Amino acid sequence: MASNIFAKSSKEKAIFKDERVLYPEFVPERLPHRDAETDNLVFALKPLTEGKKPQNSLVLGKSGTGKTAVVKYVLKELEEFSDRAKYLYLNCFEFNTRHGILTEISNFLGEPTPRRGIATDEAYTKLLSALKRTSFTPIVVLDEVDQLMSGGEASKLFYDLLRVVEFEKARFGLVLISNDFSFSSKLDSRVKSSLAHQTVLFEPYSPPQLKDILKERAQYAFVEGALEKETINVAAGHAAKLGGDARIAIECLLRAGRLAERENTSQVLPEHLQRVFAEVDATGLEKYISFLSEHEKALLSIIPSNAETSSGELFKAYSKKSDKPLTERSFRSMLSKLESLNLIRAQFTEKGERGRTRKVSLLVP
Ligand code: ADP
Ligand code: MG
Repeated sequence: MASNIFAKSSKEKAIFKDERVLYPEFVPERLPHRDAETDNLVFALKPLTEGKKPQNSLVLGKSGTGKTAVVKYVLKELEEFSDRAKYLYLNCFEFNTRHGILTEISNFLGEPTPRRGIATDEAYTKLLSALKRTSFTPIVVLDEVDQLMSGGEASKLFYDLLRVVEFEKARFGLVLISNDFSFSSKLDSRVKSSLAHQTVLFEPYSPPQLKDILKERAQYAFVEGALEKETINVAAGHAAKLGGDARIAIECLLRAGRLAERENTSQVLPEHLQRVFAEVDATGLEKYISFLSEHEKALLSIIPSNAETSSGELFKAYSKKSDKPLTERSFRSMLSKLESLNLIRAQFTEKGERGRTRKVSLLVP
């Protein structure tokens, strides 16, 4: 009998023990090099377990620095520790309107609220009355919250949440997460001091830190000896160059592992990595570029590759090209957005009046 084609294609040399450990949605049990950030969040939320008022936090850092993973980990632990605490995680790419977020929260609080056919203010009223009746202590996470900032929707939502937080002091926690470092400067001071009382900063990972993260993950993902000894170093080096992004590092390992498996080699080699880098960079790039406005895309397109330019020259070049006048302030905010997405590097130079000049270079092909 002829053998089944699926059986035939199944690997002879096992590479993976469990490749799911390398999937983006996997939340690891241990997060090396994030102890201080974890402690900050624990300290801020701890009061909730004692019926006291928490400190609402704003988590800031570039993509791939572990913000989502650390926040989810801390909240899972909190739920385990206190049977009253329950959290709701919302990614603002998916839920990007005041209406959508308010109805999600009221549903979470146990008040069935349809997404359609109900006015936003009514959804808010339902939320408030549901909050009075809930038997648990809700904690709401708004991830990628900078996605809400366009338009007046966001500031309205923040006022809604401010009222919740002020009325329900000890019974409601909020964690905001953003890639955009200028996020908190866009909040007005009352909203900021209440909804983003403390800021927890996530720095990009250094090459040795990325190595530790990969080693830890690889232990569960790969069979023993499946990684050639330089492989982790090469993956860590690549991700460090691209802005210290752990997501890139992990995805490179996953793809290189699959490639090795397909080619039926017994080890994942640095050479496999080299062949997947371009693919990983390109998918990351597509994803990030879809987050950009037309103006931001236009700015990105005039940054020369293989060269450094000063932010001043770039501003001139952009102003010339663009038909609408641009203030320096919004130019700077566009630059920091591109930087926060790891699309460019923009370092301050010594010279230049008030240290405002930045050396800009492209990080993507
Ligand atoms: P961010 O939300 O800052 O963009 P994530 O939390 O999504 O970053 O992290 C990106 C990927 O890297 C995820 O797969 C996450 O599990 C992993 N990761 C990030 N930091 C660590 C760490 N300190 N230890 C282990 N894995 C990490
Ligand atoms: Mg995230």
